[in-house]
Amino acid sequence: MIDKNIFLKRQCGECGERQLAIVNGKNTFTTPWRDFPLVFVTVDFEVLQCQNCGNFITHDADSVDRAIEASLCSQTRQFIDIIKSKTHLKSKDIAALIGISPTYLSSLHSGARYPSFQIWNFLKVTALDPVEMCRKLNPKLDVVNVDLLLHA
Ligand SMILES: [Zn+2]
Repeated sequence: MIDKNIFLKRQCGECGERQLAIVNGKNTFTTPWRDFPLVFVTVDFEVLQCQNCGNFITHDADSVDRAIEASLCSQTRQFIDIIKSKTHLKSKDIAALIGISPTYLSSLHSGARYPSFQIWNFLKVTALDPVEMCRKLNPKLDVVNVDLLLHA
């Protein structure tokens, strides 16, 4: 929890004003994090923001970590669901394409773990155009025929 009395009086490190407010950083808060160049927080997240310049001020590293891990898990699940629904590949085939074990893919999908930036980015890029990406990764997989069949 943010201690309003202490933190709302702080000065913004960017503009120097004292106009901090507690806001929900969902879909607006971004930050470099661990091996991720930039993470978008996509879950409810209480954070201080300067009302003058928009600068975010984080004071609680644990709450930042929790919000980011939850966001990454949610995004990862969506990427996997998109790839599954558009290619109709089995989980073990998707895992093989990404270069991870089916068990690990399953733990990513359930949210038990969050991926490295490399895996996250690979899933994201694949989710943008799953059929084309899967064809490139493994031409032997009959992804296109499956897709055409579904749209016939
Ligand atoms: Zn400011």
